[in-house]
Amino acid sequence: MQSSDRIREDVREFTPYAPGLSMEEIKERYGLSRVVKLASNENPLGASPLVKRVLARKADMVFRYPRAGNPALTAALAAFHGVPQACVVAGNGSDEIIDLLVRLTCRPGHDNVVAFSPCFSIYVQQTKLCGVTLRQPALGPDFVFDLPALAAACDENTALVFLTNPDNPSGYAVPAEQVIALARSLPPRALLVVDEAYVDFAEPMEDYSMLARFGQCDNMVILRTFSKLYGLAGLRLGFGVMPEWLADYMLRVRLPFSVNLMAEAAGLAALEDTAFVEASLATVRKGRAALTAKLTDLGCRVYPSQANFLMFRPPLETDAAGVFEALLRRGLIVRGLKSYGLPELLRVSIGNDEENDMFTAALKDIRENGF
Ligand SMILES: *Cc1c(COP(=O)(O)O)cnc(C)c1O
Repeated sequence: MQSSDRIREDVREFTPYAPGLSMEEIKERYGLSRVVKLASNENPLGASPLVKRVLARKADMVFRYPRAGNPALTAALAAFHGVPQACVVAGNGSDEIIDLLVRLTCRPGHDNVVAFSPCFSIYVQQTKLCGVTLRQPALGPDFVFDLPALAAACDENTALVFLTNPDNPSGYAVPAEQVIALARSLPPRALLVVDEAYVDFAEPMEDYSMLARFGQCDNMVILRTFSKLYGLAGLRLGFGVMPEWLADYMLRVRLPFSVNLMAEAAGLAALEDTAFVEASLATVRKGRAALTAKLTDLGCRVYPSQANFLMFRPPLETDAAGVFEALLRRGLIVRGLKSYGLPELLRVSIGNDEENDMFTAALKDIRENGF
């Protein structure tokens, strides 16, 4: 008997999540002293100073378990967003909420999940792991959402429909009104999961976010994360806002301490630090406009983005992989999109001014002097 015989057959061909490359790896490989990472849509200003102070103070407490279900955090989130606390579930990143949604609602071999192709790889992975069919209608030209196609892919056994708004990796977004119309057009069993990881960066956010409109749809789950705007990617904190009956079941099955003590304290502090959030938003929005103009000048095709990253086709038409490698050699890590089935495109996170300048200078150098 081979060891792999002990693994479920439908899981054997799994490959690990393809993360952005690490800075240490690239420093070593190319003998560089400085590396700029613009690959994982992290906060260009780092973490909030208030959060760092709170974490230092909280270190004494790490021998304690957190409170199961993180009631202090869900209360703060409910107050902050004006939704009932009983509808809020915190998770070890929004990834955990995605995983729990699939496991809670989908009957393996019977139900299906619907999401656009390409989509965030966690939807694909967790659905497969649960033995559930994923139906993937194509995005429209230029990554525009074909919402009628999404609705048409559903049937009476559709448990979940995932919509990332703004989308990753394109940055495309639809106004909230269209999301509500989609929710109302779904079959009775289906829940619409709107992943708003990037919605804070949309302009104006109010036109896009479903959170203020949560009461308007009873078949909707909204996902948010502290990994992007709030700069807490390494601590793992996200949350879902969902109908109370669903939140109730989710808290029954969630591992009780999946959101750790430090993450909870950091989340509470992050909500308080409005100055840091304002500065982060300003940096991203200004940087996004400036970088769009600069990349366009350099002959790139830049897709309009409402998120904290830009997807673009580099000027050296055929060879995004070559541009990617040439950037690495110059100490710049961006995201190749081969794992999304888009080998001709790259994605770059909006950095701070210095990082953005280093990135465009490297691209200019590649364009003028070759790889
Ligand atoms: C980054 C991202 C998230 C956030 O995941 P966490 O687990 O909260 O870090 C969720 N959805 C999408 C589409 C993302 O790109």
